[in-house]
Amino acid sequence: MIRKTQSARSRKRLNKDEASEVFRVLAEMWPDAHCELAHNNDFQLLIAVVLSAQTTDKAVNKALAPLLSSNPEFSARDLVALGEKGFLKVIKSIGLAPTKAKNSVALAHQLILLHDGRVPLERAALEDLPGVGRKTANVVLNVLAGLPTMAVDTHVARVSVRMGLVTPTENRLLIEEQLLQVVPEECGRLAHHLLIFHGRYFCTARAPKCGECKLLNLCRQVGLAKDKATEKSPVRR
Ligand code: SF4
Repeated sequence: MIRKTQSARSRKRLNKDEASEVFRVLAEMWPDAHCELAHNNDFQLLIAVVLSAQTTDKAVNKALAPLLSSNPEFSARDLVALGEKGFLKVIKSIGLAPTKAKNSVALAHQLILLHDGRVPLERAALEDLPGVGRKTANVVLNVLAGLPTMAVDTHVARVSVRMGLVTPTENRLLIEEQLLQVVPEECGRLAHHLLIFHGRYFCTARAPKCGECKLLNLCRQVGLAKDKATEKSPVRR
């Protein structure tokens, strides 16, 4: 257990030992942290991640549920057969649906053309696909290949800055690089899911539950208004 000294508290960024302790506590708090995008195969996960840009996993799961329930093996070929208009009807409830429907069908076409419909588990091949950027590739490599990648979404960015795991920045790549420097090896691919669960269900944008947080004595509470940042107390675990 790491107790903070006065000089440690005045440092904004956590050191490696403190960061390891953060991930140990997060693993205690969120033993079931996992990818919450519903999928039955690799292609469905890739499409779900693409659809989840600027919307919630819950909204994506809800939109895709009838389709995946009627065709649990829904594949790249099925999406091409459904076409852009057909898929737009399926996903009309989520944000940016027309663009996402167009990109998803183009993505399915490319997968069939270049990879016989299979999802490649290599970063370069993934990022070559239409609509697939670094964050999507990181999620796919984490969930499907079990690699210790760090996809930085809004939750990961907010929580890691607040805690002091990284220095404050809007640059997601910089956040990813700084996080990978401090994630303990044994945490591996789980680190991404732990930060997402903590941000989604506890350290939320508007109402972080600092008063009940097991990380209160480590967390730097960077950027929190005083009324949200609870007075530091003696060790609470
Ligand atoms: S102490 Fe507050 S800001 Fe820090 S991780 Fe916990 S809930 Fe988030």
